[in-house]
Amino acid sequence: MVALTFPDGAQREYPAGTTGLDIAKGISPSLAKRTVAMALNGTVVDLADPIQADAKIEFVNREDPRALELIRHDTAHVLAEAVQALWPGTQVTIGPVIDNGFYYDFARNDPFVPEDLPVIEKKMREIIARDKPFTREEWSREKAKQVFRDKGENFKVELVDAIPEDQTLKIYYQGDWFDLCRGPHMTSTGKIGNAFKLMKVAGAYWRGDSKNPMLTRIYGTAFAKQEELDAYLKQMEEAEKRDHRRLGRELDLFHFQEEGPGVVFWHAKGWTLFQAIIAYMRRRLAGDYDEVNAPQMLDKALWETSGHWQWYREKHVRGAVGRRRSGRQALVRHQADELPRPCADLQARPHQLSRPADPSCRIRRGASLRSFGRHARPVARARLHARRRPCVLHRGTARR
Ligand SMILES: [Zn+2]
Repeated sequence: MVALTFPDGAQREYPAGTTGLDIAKGISPSLAKRTVAMALNGTVVDLADPIQADAKIEFVNREDPRALELIRHDTAHVLAEAVQALWPGTQVTIGPVIDNGFYYDFARNDPFVPEDLPVIEKKMREIIARDKPFTREEWSREKAKQVFRDKGENFKVELVDAIPEDQTLKIYYQGDWFDLCRGPHMTSTGKIGNAFKLMKVAGAYWRGDSKNPMLTRIYGTAFAKQEELDAYLKQMEEAEKRDHRRLGRELDLFHFQEEGPGVVFWHAKGWTLFQAIIAYMRRRLAGDYDEVNAPQMLDKALWETSGHWQWYREKHVRGAVGRRRSGRQALVRHQADELPRPCADLQARPHQLSRPADPSCRIRRGASLRSFGRHARPVARARLHARRRPCVLHRGTARR
């Protein structure tokens, strides 16, 4: 027997191996119907999982904040099924939940275009309406590799190989369609509801490595309720209006171009404004702060220590730079010599490029880098370096 403690503190015993669904049904059919997963000792798991040990149990319904990740995860599976139904032969790779939604990467000769998204959404609604239960099987590595190889899913074969030996290999079915997945999932596709939207398509390298094949990625989002989706889409629309990349161009202040990711190409008006702000900040901070200046490009060892490399690797400007040569010099040279896009304003004034955005930082007096702990120091230093705009480090005691 296992002793289960319910949220109201009540404790009951059940035979070991009883599933969450059995328990919910035993309490009331309506509870079983509205429950999409359960939490055992705080960890969300499949409602169909057999319970083998004493635990605190909670039933999770669609409106529970913990269900949001499940809704999005399930939607990603349905997206993959829809894509394979519409374009047989497309290979599926990975489809994780991310901030504000999910994506799924597909291997296909013709990349998706935005016009495909409404077609895929329609197919997804059909799959959701079928309301097929999510069921789980555990497969051996050999079986999984064989099945995926036979289906022509070579990326999945690679994924199976990457799963550590001590982990169980789980396959989740929704009707006939299945995917390799850690789970958990809700009880059926119908629980997803209709508050989802596919947002955009993008290219992405397999495993984020430019040496690997280019995949085509579809981003989407999903919510428990339509009002939440509407509010999110409205928020995105408003953010788009205020997008600095768009405003920079429209106001003729600055622009970005893909040859220099994250680096600002200032136009005359923008640069004047930027300098005015710097001058203002210098005046305001003059009494309390000492100004320092640090390079923007450094050996990757520093970014590994700071954690930026692991998190933002794809967004870093990378390149082999002689160890003795300043990375920043190399970058400036690249911009000045090879300015590839027509930008009459910048080309007319190449001297502006010899002064990229001011990387100076100000450190409050008395708060030298030494005042950051040994472990925090690389982060603090990296932060100094990472910002192209003046930044103020607040840690440490100010000497007035
Ligand atoms: Zn999954």
